[in-house]
Amino acid sequence: MAVSVLGIIGGGQLGCMLADAAKKLKVKTIILSDDIESPAKNFADEFIYSNYNNSKKINNFLHKVDLVTYEFENIPFETLDKISRLKKVLPEPNINKILQNRFTEKKFLNSLNILTTPYILIKSKQDLKSNFNLIPGLLKTCTLGYDGKGQHKISSIEIIDKINLNFENEYILEKIVDLKKEISVIITRFGREKYEIYEPIENLHEDQILKISKIPAEISKEIFDKSKEWSKQITDKLNYIGTLCVEFFIDKNEKLYVNEIAPRVHNSGHLTINSHNISQFENHIRAICGFQKIETKKICNAKMINIIGDEIIIYRNKKFSKKEFFFDYLKKNIKEKRKMGHLTTIEE
Ligand code: AMP
Repeated sequence: MAVSVLGIIGGGQLGCMLADAAKKLKVKTIILSDDIESPAKNFADEFIYSNYNNSKKINNFLHKVDLVTYEFENIPFETLDKISRLKKVLPEPNINKILQNRFTEKKFLNSLNILTTPYILIKSKQDLKSNFNLIPGLLKTCTLGYDGKGQHKISSIEIIDKINLNFENEYILEKIVDLKKEISVIITRFGREKYEIYEPIENLHEDQILKISKIPAEISKEIFDKSKEWSKQITDKLNYIGTLCVEFFIDKNEKLYVNEIAPRVHNSGHLTINSHNISQFENHIRAICGFQKIETKKICNAKMINIIGDEIIIYRNKKFSKKEFFFDYLKKNIKEKRKMGHLTTIEE
């Protein structure tokens, strides 16, 4: 039976677009977030402001919903696991546990013979110094980092003594890839041999934050096929239900690596709202809530630009053509490096 009330943990822009897609399918949404200013409260049917360890409020939320999903992956495993004992959670908490830690995520990928950048687990400065073969490298916290947060560039051994590191956290040191291009593949898995998979999207980052996504990606046929095939293998092995994004690096020698996996809808897939008959958000809701799978088709090529920080002021006063679609996340506070909205331009 299809779900009629969906609980979404997290209230950012992905929550806004999930709530919008759910509305189209007549599914009610209730957002649970620890941020009172969550933009998704403007889009959902109900908003519950709560800490992720406030049992009373979480129980109240669970009473009201038929199914729970989430729009960011950094929810503590214990919280998701507890919730899943009372209500079904999709994607399953165990999947999130593997993917929210960069070390276990890479080990999982390597177990499928999928290439990742060379890396090593780092627990001390001595570990760093003895792995000079991975320098120049990027030191990343195993958990909780995104958009370049929690990352240090280790350009030489000399730099190691000069940086402040907290070894209560675990890190990985990752070799820096000589990047030619970055792409992502968004896939929705409905069950065994049942997928809707979007063509690879080309992504451009500025200051480690996604700035532009576009289709078609200018890549070889081999990379086009391999990135989609790996994405299918990943969702199969995880027995995944819902939308997931695989982010890839392509190096100067045309070698393909998986950078990371997001067990959720993804920023690079915002353009699917305008470029396809079914967006990544609608496909996620369809898959987890038990709706029919509809063949997903591209309508047109598209390019999306993330609007970051005070760039939003100009866009809020701008007029747009019929080919331009402006999304304002209605965030009250403008902050540097904060994603405030996006603009998708379609090509007819
Ligand atoms: P991440 O948070 O790991 O996805 O990194 C954010 C961005 O930093 C990526 O999209 C790349 O542009 C860049 N980056 C991360 N890791 C590497 C790497 N090992 N080599 C080159 N660039 C990287």
